[in-house]
Amino acid sequence: MKKIIYADHAATTKLDIDAFDAMKGFWVDSYGNPSQPYSFSRDTKKALKDARETIAVCIGSDPDEIYFTSGGTESDNWALKGFVKKQKRKQIIASAIEHHAILHTADSLEREGYEVCLLDVTKEGVVLPSFLESRINNDSAIVSIMLANNEIGSIQPISELAEIAHSHGAVFHTDAVQAVGHIEIDVKKLHVDMLSASAHKFNGPRGIGFLYVKNGTDLFPFMDGGYQEQSMRAGTENVAAIVGMSIALKKNVDSISENRRYLLNLENQLISGFKQSGLDFIRNGAENHLPGNVSISFKDSDGEMLLHRLDLMGICISTGSACDSKNTQVSHVIRAIDVPEDYQNGTIRISLGKDNTAEDVAYIVSSLSHILKVN
Ligand code: PLP
Repeated sequence: MKKIIYADHAATTKLDIDAFDAMKGFWVDSYGNPSQPYSFSRDTKKALKDARETIAVCIGSDPDEIYFTSGGTESDNWALKGFVKKQKRKQIIASAIEHHAILHTADSLEREGYEVCLLDVTKEGVVLPSFLESRINNDSAIVSIMLANNEIGSIQPISELAEIAHSHGAVFHTDAVQAVGHIEIDVKKLHVDMLSASAHKFNGPRGIGFLYVKNGTDLFPFMDGGYQEQSMRAGTENVAAIVGMSIALKKNVDSISENRRYLLNLENQLISGFKQSGLDFIRNGAENHLPGNVSISFKDSDGEMLLHRLDLMGICISTGSACDSKNTQVSHVIRAIDVPEDYQNGTIRISLGKDNTAEDVAYIVSSLSHILKVN
């Protein structure tokens, strides 16, 4: 098989081998339904409890504030829809650079009669507290601002934003899907009421995640049915995936500082490599960003073309565009940060992970330099 240089870790990550090993036993041996009272289900019940406790420690919450979901999209949908439908207040505030899991959920609530207000961001992709101050009012029910952006990596001043929301009687949700397992998170220090996470972004399995809900936050259940997840998210738990998620999260959290140092070095190598090759590019995002997340816009280029040419060379990256079956458009994030027009189309995202090496980075630099110089 051709060697693949995977540099798209913001899209998904490889399952951690220890997480995989721990999951195996729950598929074929310990498969008892954790809701059943007999002793055969003791292992699965204990595994669920342990996983919830491990995850809670990783984000500084209480275990009963962790609700397992199918991933980031579900957690985001639940936080917004589950909360606003209990409120008299009608306004939902989010940022213009949220993931579609938030933006499309807000659109759907707008169609039901809620008012949606999208906050601008700076050229670095940051929501300044003053932007929120100027739009929040006594009808604001919820403010949802992502902790770190998936396309450009910018990290938001969440605790300040949350305090503003609270001072106006609104709750604060953060989509932390890109951040959990990659930067230190303490829900108490962040002052958030809800936080979404997804295991496949931190070397856990795909199709599992969680929503942190601060005790006392009034939400409608996401699923009606059995009594699982405190009757808030019914359905027999995917114990294997939950166990895998907790192990992957703990491993990532235990090595956050080490991974950050390693990834920042790789990033520097990448950027200085592009500079030395004489390429004309802009780096997008803020100084305070997710380690390894590098969004760059090359002048007069085409991100789609770059993606496909790199693919032929065995390199996986993303573009700064959103595609549907008919057309390709510059993404809402790249538009929101005002990337100059002659650079917009040439935007790509290289998201490095802890398995990438200096050789990988050197190969990415030489491949891109080759493509851009011959075009
Ligand atoms: N939110 C953000 C910021 C994301 O990056 C993603 C996935 O890319 C999601 C939500 C959706 O997560 P999931 O794939 O687990 O549904």
